[in-house]
Amino acid sequence: MPTYEYECQACNKKFTKILSLSEHGKEKIACPKCKSIKVKQRISTFTTKTSRKS
Ligand SMILES: [Zn+2]
Repeated sequence: MPTYEYECQACNKKFTKILSLSEHGKEKIACPKCKSIKVKQRISTFTTKTSRKS
């Protein structure tokens, strides 16, 4: 499933959501940190590198 990147306009928190195409578009995305729905989607191509660090 595609990963969507979002950036909160209220607190600048960047987060990702994995949504199916049907979920995307009808889901109200809220910031996981401040619960604001003033989030902006960041258009990202498929990132192959993971942000995980060991
Ligand atoms: Zn926020």
